[in-house]
Amino acid sequence: AQERYASIRDKPAETLDGHTIALHMNAGLMADLPSLAGSGAEGVGLFRTELQFLVRSQMPKRAELSELYARVMDAAQGKRVVFRTLDIGSDKVLPYMKPNDEPNPAMGWRAIRVGLDKPGVMRMQLQALLRAAKGRPLSVMFPFVAQMEEYTRAREEMDKALERERILGHPIPENLELGAMLETPSLAYAPDKFFEDVGFLSIGGNDLKQFFFAADRENERVRRRYDTLNVSFLSFLERIVQRCEATGTPLSFCGEDAGRPVEAACFAAIGMRILSMRPASIGPVKSILRRSDLGELRAIIHAARDRGDMSVRPAVLEYLRGKL
Ligand code: PEP
Ligand code: MG
Repeated sequence: AQERYASIRDKPAETLDGHTIALHMNAGLMADLPSLAGSGAEGVGLFRTELQFLVRSQMPKRAELSELYARVMDAAQGKRVVFRTLDIGSDKVLPYMKPNDEPNPAMGWRAIRVGLDKPGVMRMQLQALLRAAKGRPLSVMFPFVAQMEEYTRAREEMDKALERERILGHPIPENLELGAMLETPSLAYAPDKFFEDVGFLSIGGNDLKQFFFAADRENERVRRRYDTLNVSFLSFLERIVQRCEATGTPLSFCGEDAGRPVEAACFAAIGMRILSMRPASIGPVKSILRRSDLGELRAIIHAARDRGDMSVRPAVLEYLRGKL
């Protein structure tokens, strides 16, 4: 099987009906970067910056972070890297930060909420990213944005950081892309203005699904209870795709489900064109996409929904089996 993936490594993830899906990889440590060349990924669609905070015993310094981000960009050799600002809290607790005693940390003081309430660390991180870019293009996204105003405030922090760099005479990125993760159902219903303003959106399916079904992703009893290909969830995702299409907002999906071939094929069928996953999933996902006709798959998904199936999975599996 590995050989089959090697033979398609440099081929596009082009479906039988001519749609090309961009496959990116998720990363978080320097050690992940060599996979960028080996996997055939087009770029890093999600760089989880909190991992580098989690492996340290002290808060990293700005210069240290900046050097690290510069090495990530060097290793990417001009390919796009989407840096996600710190997503701490919830399951990710920094050893050198006072733990919060929260009854529901996944829904608590985490990610952009911490970044906006105590902006010191986020400001330091934004500055480190700007310096690391040394004038090169830079992509940054904010985690766990639940309403437009949080994105707007985070963007203002970036504007301030940019202004400071300008005054200091440091180079600023030739192109700065700012985006948000869509991980709470509320953001899918943000005003059109949000979809127009945001540079891009990336669906964090791990969190989005846990909040959609109210099923804790950490709880073995419930975490696999609801299928990602449940018609309700898939209809919800399709609605997000349509809103993004209406405003021309670039959309990707970067949760773990993007790396599962059947799920990935369904996401493509409902209109997603950028998927970001662990590097080892790129081969299998590409392989299934190259054997799928998205128009046919979409018809199967809609037929299953119209019939009242609970999940589109059985119908989709039957279709895909016929393609093997
Ligand atoms: C997600 O929620 O799907 C996501 C990509 O972020 P994380 O898994 O780091 O919460
Ligand atoms: Mg998340």
